Amino acid sequence: MANRDDVVKQLGLELVDAGGADAVVSIDPTTGQRLGAVRAAGAADYEAALTRGLTRFQDWRLRPAPQRAELVRDLALLLRQHKAALGELISLEVGKIRSEGLGEVQEMIDICDFALGLSRQLCGLTIASERPAHRMLEQWHPLGVVGIVTAFNFPMAVWAWNAALAAVCGDVCVWKPSPRTPLCSLAVHTLCQQTMQRHDADGVFGLVQGGADLGAALAADRRVPLVSFTGSVAVGRKVAATVAQRLGRSLLELGGNNAIIVCADADLDLAVRAITFGAVGTAGQRCTSTRRVFVDRAVAPRLTERLLAAYRTVRIGDPLEAGTLMGPLAGPASVTAYEAALAAATAQGGRILCGGKRLDRPGFFVEPTIVEAPPQQRFPIAHEETFAPILYLFTVDSLDEALAAHNAVPQGLSSAIFTEGLRSAERFLGPAGSDCGIANVNLGTSGAEIGGAFGGEKDTGGGRESGSDAWRSYMRRQTCTINGGGTLPLAQGVEFPV
Ligand code: NAD
Repeated sequence: MANRDDVVKQLGLELVDAGGADAVVSIDPTTGQRLGAVRAAGAADYEAALTRGLTRFQDWRLRPAPQRAELVRDLALLLRQHKAALGELISLEVGKIRSEGLGEVQEMIDICDFALGLSRQLCGLTIASERPAHRMLEQWHPLGVVGIVTAFNFPMAVWAWNAALAAVCGDVCVWKPSPRTPLCSLAVHTLCQQTMQRHDADGVFGLVQGGADLGAALAADRRVPLVSFTGSVAVGRKVAATVAQRLGRSLLELGGNNAIIVCADADLDLAVRAITFGAVGTAGQRCTSTRRVFVDRAVAPRLTERLLAAYRTVRIGDPLEAGTLMGPLAGPASVTAYEAALAAATAQGGRILCGGKRLDRPGFFVEPTIVEAPPQQRFPIAHEETFAPILYLFTVDSLDEALAAHNAVPQGLSSAIFTEGLRSAERFLGPAGSDCGIANVNLGTSGAEIGGAFGGEKDTGGGRESGSDAWRSYMRRQTCTINGGGTLPLAQGVEFPV
């Protein structure tokens, strides 16, 4: 089992003793006990972080991108070196099992490697001009300070998705992490500081620890051209409105309500494993967690039976103990939300097939739960994201019915279909299929690779982070026309004889 003091020592974390308003306190969800505290940022700290960033930006934007990437490459080396301790810290502070904690650190390493290669591929375009001896091109410039506000459930990786790309794009960042995970963010920032010192790059990665007021300050700050916000739909709406009011840009990665369609011809072995990981993994606290399943009536009894058997094998407990598959929820409010959702589900006609209770032990543990649900249009609770291991199981009679219900919720993040049939798979992936940002065939909704653009539609906010061309969000596009001739022809043949 991890020793909290060893992890703190190995990562060189400077914790504070005091509780109270000037500290952000971390609670271990496995025990309910205090894990440590860090100093909270006040208004002066916020201002200092912004100023350091703005000052650094003046020269950082002029460094060639491949040189900027050396900072990110060295950070990735440190992350590799400290992978085990960082992973354990995620398990301690968020309750993810060891393998998932390590996976999150690997995701940071992966995005750093991706950003390193990307630094030589921030490509623009050349465009044919209608005017003789003219040339048009499109180029990309750094934006400035990127405000990064993150959620508790990916306390390191989501920062890295943003910061690694922003840094090679020539931006600087100010990160406002979740107040529930101050040790994880301090650990990452401590490694950033070592790397920044080596590269004379102080100010590229800034950190302000604290609550909603700091996130709101970033959203309102005109010096921050891009606010990348990851969190709930409710808070995302506020942030988006504030940023829009000042005509800034926001990149929104909000809640999901992800579903899997299981067709009559599905490989049930694959489906059962994917659904169980998607619904139970991370205790149902991923934005991509599987919350709804639409199963064809022909295989519904078999799928249900096999899911119940799989759920019986899930060991719940200390996330760092070997064999544990599900750790705790984030805190007491999450347990209350779990219970409230199940009360609503039962009142609306759902039937709990397994689970349904909080565990009588310290920490914030609940049972993974499957609810047999009535048709979704009569089951409003399934339209909400409850950040807990609750799976609603719907029986359907056709792919049409499944697709209509699948798309009938406000969120649009991740989706999947299990089928051996090409036609069903292609319908799901086609223009009238899944309306989500992520659509998978014969794998679950949870656990994306960094190479693809990550994000969702509708209430999920429309943002895209991580791979593909997501880097463009972190730069400003400039269209340039160059006249290499001796005359001045006007566009569209306009004459202006002066
Ligand atoms: P949350 O919305 O409660 O908090 C997110 C962040 O916003 C925190 O840092 C918080 O301090 C800050 N914040 C709170 N009020 C604010 C305000 N008024 N202005 C600015 N910032 C404010 O979310 P959470 O409970 O930490 O995380 C869970 C949610 O995040 C879920 O809905 C989940 O689906 C979502 N999420 C989405 C993605 C994605 O990529 N789509 C990834 C992870 C989590």
